[in-house]
Amino acid sequence: MYTLKIEGAFEAAHHVAGYPGKCARLHGHNWVVEAVVKGKELDELGMLIDFKVMKKELADVLERFDHRYLNELKPFADGLNPTAENLARIIFEELACRKVFERDSVLYAITVFESPKSSVTYTKD
Ligand SMILES: [Zn+2]
Repeated sequence: MYTLKIEGAFEAAHHVAGYPGKCARLHGHNWVVEAVVKGKELDELGMLIDFKVMKKELADVLERFDHRYLNELKPFADGLNPTAENLARIIFEELACRKVFERDSVLYAITVFESPKSSVTYTKD
């Protein structure tokens, strides 16, 4: 089994409604997002998936969050808090359905770093 990891980033503001502390106030983060792909079968070049292709797909998914107020975007505008947990799941769901996963490769995990020492990982299981 091969495990491939790439990284993306975006800058955005949010607030966590109902949180009993500072995070209830409008503030921003430099969000870092790691995507992990797993698979056993390599292509004829010996690659699981091209790093360049995977980075572009992740960048495309993150584009709609960049320099935005996350609480105003779907699905957060409907009342879902834009926590690192919810972001990780939504980014996972949007990236997993992209048509870049060939052979037996699948998106395995998305990790969202709210800060260098605080992150959440979402996997499908
Ligand atoms: Zn925050």
